[in-house]
Amino acid sequence: VKKLQAPRGTLDVLPPDARRRLEVVGIAGEVLGRAGYEPMETPVFEDTELFARGVGESTDIVQKEMFTFEDKAGRSLTLRPEATAGICRAYIEHGMHKLPQPVKVWSAGPFFRHEAPQAGRFRQFTQIDAEAIGSDDPSLDAELILLLAEIFERAGTGPARLRLSSLGTPETRADYLDELTRFLRAREDELSDDVRARLDQNPLRAFDADHAGTQAVMREAPLLIDRLAADDEAHFAEVRTLLDSAGIEYEVDPTLVRGLDYYTRTVFEFESERLGAQAALGGGGRYDGLVEELGGPPTPGVGWAAGIERMLLAAGDEAGEAIPRVFVAIAKPDASRTGFELARRLRRAGLRVETEQAGRSMKGQLKQADRIGAFATVILGDSIEVKDMQTGDQREAASLDEVLGLVQEATGS
Ligand code: AMP
Repeated sequence: VKKLQAPRGTLDVLPPDARRRLEVVGIAGEVLGRAGYEPMETPVFEDTELFARGVGESTDIVQKEMFTFEDKAGRSLTLRPEATAGICRAYIEHGMHKLPQPVKVWSAGPFFRHEAPQAGRFRQFTQIDAEAIGSDDPSLDAELILLLAEIFERAGTGPARLRLSSLGTPETRADYLDELTRFLRAREDELSDDVRARLDQNPLRAFDADHAGTQAVMREAPLLIDRLAADDEAHFAEVRTLLDSAGIEYEVDPTLVRGLDYYTRTVFEFESERLGAQAALGGGGRYDGLVEELGGPPTPGVGWAAGIERMLLAAGDEAGEAIPRVFVAIAKPDASRTGFELARRLRRAGLRVETEQAGRSMKGQLKQADRIGAFATVILGDSIEVKDMQTGDQREAASLDEVLGLVQEATGS
């Protein structure tokens, strides 16, 4: 028989990794919650058209990377490759523009891109995502960047380089794209086939190219950041002022191109020094035209997404807190029901407790208590003993009721 395996590019998340992922999500919820961001969920699959319109027809995501399928009624559906389009669709569908603005939300869940799997790149991956929709205030851009930096810090991802740029408004961008296209056309024979093929669709992609000839051309290319309209320039300056006063380090990188079409004004990306080729920990930007593009009222928005797998890769063993544990050992066979009951009581008192459920010898049970990192072991035999696993001290409890107190003394809590 053929060996069954998880599909290519997917991950089974085993303990303790699955717990560490929940911890990271918990950190994000706490940090974002303090700034007024509320959890929100949208479906894992959407109409294909949402992503074609939202993410952009010419992007790699839409052209090559979507998991698209037909349902039984012949509708084209797609496993979501990113979060913002779905959240904006829901914002419109539920009339959320009538709520006090901005609507601040966050979510965490699986996303799907049919990319070539490699270290840090999967076909199903998990993102934390935060969005502030309904205001173009530059303090939201700065706030979201600072919150993401705080989440990275608390998750222990280590040093990350922050790159920042502004893409201006669609009008400025259209003029600039004309200028860039003319520039690239004039030097077409120096460009890679790929860049040339999509020159009219998305000339900005040329900044992303790995091809040496293209890179040489791009070093002389005109930059959008030098063509910004006055109000976009002022918006970007305010974002930078707020980041400066918060003391966060960043580089303005006018070649920063993100793989999605909907961005306007601010774009940013954090890269970890601890990751290899797939170094992006998280990134995002402003999308002042997206809600309208999807059929809603003109509504500005800004947001980011960060990959949990990459955050944990970067954090290594730093992430995760030790959870204090208690082991209830059964020293004689007829004590197992008492052990079951004691474990239940101690859990209700807020402790994390395991008891013997695999028929181990006393020696095996003490080894198991060590293995799970128990700070105290309760030994149920002819007497009830509470052993402090750090000091080795052992004290007798007169009844089950006394056990909790002795266990708490062993933790010093
Ligand atoms: P993006 O929307 O492409 O900027 O993605 C946001 C974040 O999600 C990235 O910075 C990564 O941390 C993570 N990410 C994106 N694509 C993948 C992938 N294929 N595998 C793992 N993580 C990913």
